[in-house]
Amino acid sequence: MSDAGAPVTGTIAFLGLGHMGGPMAVNLVKAGYRVTGFDVVPAALDAAREHGIPTAGTAVEAVAGAAVVLTMLPSGKHLLDAYRGAGGAPGLLEVAAPGTMFLDCSTINVDEAREAAELAVAAGHRAVDAPVSGGVVGAEAGTLTFMVGALPEDFEAVKPLLEVMGKRVVHCGAHGAGQAAKICNNMILGVSMIAVSEAFVLGEKLGLTHQALFDVASAASGQCWALTTNCPVPGPVPTSPANRDYQPGFAGALMAKDLNLALNALQSTGVAARLGPLAAEIYDTFAAEGGAGRDFSGIITDIREKSEAGKSEAGTAGH
Ligand code: NAD
Repeated sequence: MSDAGAPVTGTIAFLGLGHMGGPMAVNLVKAGYRVTGFDVVPAALDAAREHGIPTAGTAVEAVAGAAVVLTMLPSGKHLLDAYRGAGGAPGLLEVAAPGTMFLDCSTINVDEAREAAELAVAAGHRAVDAPVSGGVVGAEAGTLTFMVGALPEDFEAVKPLLEVMGKRVVHCGAHGAGQAAKICNNMILGVSMIAVSEAFVLGEKLGLTHQALFDVASAASGQCWALTTNCPVPGPVPTSPANRDYQPGFAGALMAKDLNLALNALQSTGVAARLGPLAAEIYDTFAAEGGAGRDFSGIITDIREKSEAGKSEAGTAGH
């Protein structure tokens, strides 16, 4: 009798060898997995080969004979197009051998993740969504966190593989639950970073030092990751991006992306949220006005600048 939860073996077709996928694939190769990489951008393919990842000329070639199709793509549209086929290219669900494990690690809409899994299962395959947190640093070090949506036996089957690329692998529930956990967490993060930043700017206006506010809030009910690990002002947490002119870290563009995925989920579920949508709007503006490549904690400089502008406008109006 076959054991559905047995670790998947065989070749991994790794599609999407960008900032995250490249180093993740390298870690699989180093751990002894057979990997065939593919990316639509030739430069990404060249870089992958330089790092020891065997590559294929097309996605179809990579997927032929693979036991796992691991995707690390920019968006849900990229994923669904690849699965179904687009622009004359055949769909990967069609060309893969029956029972192939389709393992998507991209960050995409919950609805898209569910649709991708449904399509894969309907085509006779297995499907797992496993978005990550930990960024490029975590991808390189093999210390990512994976949030997994899958049937229990499929979770068990991919867990050893994910443990090569990450240090924490959490089964969050059925298909789409990995994406759901990721966007819920990042909605907390986006909202809390704005709250912490507003509090520091208010503290500045009230004559509080950054250190005094940090010493109180970090040991009181205001304590959170945005304050104690990614503190938006330089000084109290020497490793936070604020100490290096907001070099990411977690880039503003990615926070804006994730908050928009959260916004889509809020709208499709009808949740009466107010701060999540507002955070999405605030980070859209931040990203559009030069913050896309800066750490998301750089939002504090926006708040500070807009506070100064607001003050001078109020001052002018009063005269
Ligand atoms: P990236 O743009 O660097 O890489 C994506 C790669 O996919 C690109 O090289 C692109 O050419 C390739 N690609 C697009 N369509 C393809 C196709 N049909 N077949 C093969 N390759 C294709 O992006 P990234 O930073 O590596 O992020 C990948 C995913 O991980 C995104 O969904 C992102 O939101 C998520 N993520 C990123 C980070 C981060 O810090 N960069 C952190 C957590 C999650």
